[in-house]
Amino acid sequence: MRIDVITLFPDLFEPFTQQGVVRRAYDSGVVQLRLWQLRDFATGNYRRIDDRPFGGGPGMVMAAQPLADALAAIRSDRNEPADQQAPVVLFSPQGTTLTHERVSAFAAEDKGVIVVCGRYEGIDQRFIDRHVDAQWSLGDFVLSGGEIAAIAWLDAVARLMPGVLGDADSHGQDSFNAALDGLLDCPHYTRPGTWEGATVPTPLLSGNHAAIAAYRRQQSLVATARSRPDLIHAARVAGALSKADEVILKASAPDSPI
Ligand code: SAH
Repeated sequence: MRIDVITLFPDLFEPFTQQGVVRRAYDSGVVQLRLWQLRDFATGNYRRIDDRPFGGGPGMVMAAQPLADALAAIRSDRNEPADQQAPVVLFSPQGTTLTHERVSAFAAEDKGVIVVCGRYEGIDQRFIDRHVDAQWSLGDFVLSGGEIAAIAWLDAVARLMPGVLGDADSHGQDSFNAALDGLLDCPHYTRPGTWEGATVPTPLLSGNHAAIAAYRRQQSLVATARSRPDLIHAARVAGALSKADEVILKASAPDSPI
């Protein structure tokens, strides 16, 4: 999967492609990341890519032309048939909030994307209107640039790509995954068995696989009901909750409407 990124800060990406498990995705070429320095597409003595906003107000706005020139260079480098051009995505607080569902759908499609990272007050709307196919947000808060959002998204995509995580750290059992019916993960424990007086829940020490699985399911249900009742609702609507699950939920919060 090829991902091109237009950014004023390409160096920010490098450490995140060279550390941890996702490094495998880049080293093996499963994810091909190309970083494009927007300033290389600026013209004039000062190589400016921004200017003051029409209508006044604080801050600067990224100009349309350098962005369009960077995009044209990427398109020519990708050299895709006209009907198979990679979509252009802008990271923006005004976009659709990213979720596991959206990230994993993207990872499964394997078709690549051209990512634009904004800075300052954002980018000239005319570039968005003409070239941007989708806008993605990391959440309802404002970052100083799209790079952090893009890096977070890249990390989430890379770890889902085939062969990136070994069996030992497989993502299938993580929160939001189908194997958990979209619920949150259960709590985890490791040695020592007693830490500062706190012990490990006994089912996890039993060696009984069915008992361990039942305990983890119960913990996952209770944790999800407590902090993400919307996910319980979604699992119920999808028909993923068993009678036993419902008994656990009822017992954990008998008066709750969920
Ligand atoms: N004036 C804009 C915010 C600009 S922040 C507004 O109020 O909507 C500067 C840049 O940071 C944006 O262009 C975008 O690329 C990035 N950014 C900020 N918050 C983000 C978020 N929650 N998700 C993704 N990108 C974000």
